[in-house]
Amino acid sequence: MKKKTIDAYIIDRKAQQLVEWKVIMSATWLMDALREYSENHPDDAIFDMDDYYNGWEERCPECNSRNITTDTEAYRKENPEWASQHKEDNCYICEDCGASFDEPYIPEIYEYWFVDDGFANLLRKKDEFVLDTCWVPIWGRRATGQAIYIDGVIQEIAKELLEKYGF
Ligand SMILES: [Zn+2]
Repeated sequence: MKKKTIDAYIIDRKAQQLVEWKVIMSATWLMDALREYSENHPDDAIFDMDDYYNGWEERCPECNSRNITTDTEAYRKENPEWASQHKEDNCYICEDCGASFDEPYIPEIYEYWFVDDGFANLLRKKDEFVLDTCWVPIWGRRATGQAIYIDGVIQEIAKELLEKYGF
């Protein structure tokens, strides 16, 4: 018997349910104050500033990997085959896919949301920006201008939960 695929409508319903239950409230309006406080009070920080800056790491524009280098000379030595096909210098190189580029890609964060702990872990597995705080985690949303349940990452999580646990 052919396995049924989960219909887009069911995924939307699951994604809506997740947002309703797991996304607590907006943190965008608080973010500047929380960041300033954490920077000035390291012993009493709301979140770890290193975690915050990790969210802004440079990435490969081709494959989204954070494993990039500017040491073209060392990369050439270690990857003679790549070196024989590429002349470029003084650029960024992705150590995962071998792409070279002048500017790395830094995914923008448009909104911040307080989310439930379990949901934060699911988002983390998707390489999303998540900060642990002394309250509940903060998710940095890399989309805006549409309902949250439509975001690609939320749709993916909903689909995976349905595949794993059913409705
Ligand atoms: Zn890459």
